[in-house]
Amino acid sequence: MANVFPRGAPLTYPDSVVARAGWHMGDTSAPIGPESWQATCRAADCAVAAAEAVLAGAPAAYALCRPPGHHTGAEVAAGHCLLNVSAIAAAHLRGAHDRVAVLDIDVHHGNGTQEIFYDRSDVLTLSVHAETRAYYPFFTGYAEETGTGAGAGFNLNLPMPRTTRDDAWIAAIEAGLARVADFAPGALVVSLGLDAHENDPLQGMKITFDGFRRAGRLIAGSGLPAVIVQEGGYLSPDPATALEAFLSGVMAPGAG
Ligand SMILES: [Zn+2]
Repeated sequence: MANVFPRGAPLTYPDSVVARAGWHMGDTSAPIGPESWQATCRAADCAVAAAEAVLAGAPAAYALCRPPGHHTGAEVAAGHCLLNVSAIAAAHLRGAHDRVAVLDIDVHHGNGTQEIFYDRSDVLTLSVHAETRAYYPFFTGYAEETGTGAGAGFNLNLPMPRTTRDDAWIAAIEAGLARVADFAPGALVVSLGLDAHENDPLQGMKITFDGFRRAGRLIAGSGLPAVIVQEGGYLSPDPATALEAFLSGVMAPGAG
């Protein structure tokens, strides 16, 4: 666990382990223990296996990854995430397709995934999340973040009020999928947080189980091969039910 973090510039990569921990951690919620590396590598393997299944012809595959990944950037882990497993799945799919899209519906902004692909036009990143002015990850997630350089126009943030219920959330996902359709990728990665659920202890949005079912239905209805990667979802009996609802929607594709 880091207790010192670099700020400002110029900066020099240090020798001290605790200082290096600070260099590579965005906050104190991604501590590294003796088994962390093995765990995050297994999570990445799981996401790659799902990508392989989709490349082999499956219409969709779900990867139950732990720890999750979408808050991790190229060099900095944060927010309970170590390796960015959704980005790894996207990179794996990118080996077979010219264009890949990542749609993040976790209630938190997918800031790590955004950062990794921010200057690229071959991976479109989209995030539907609770507005971040007073919600993690705070410093990113705003609508004006649209990409840079070759990636300009290839990042779409759809921040939403924390009072958001099913109909507005589904409409935002629908808007995201319209942008994905315009991009015409060969495959889609879905960063599936279940923490937008109304009973989630982090209270980011007010989505019901039926909302998750509709989201699954809508995403599968896009007709794109989909690698679904588990992201957030916190201590309560509800994530399992939300997952079951989402996957029931995936298996009955339609208009949401
Ligand atoms: Zn989350």
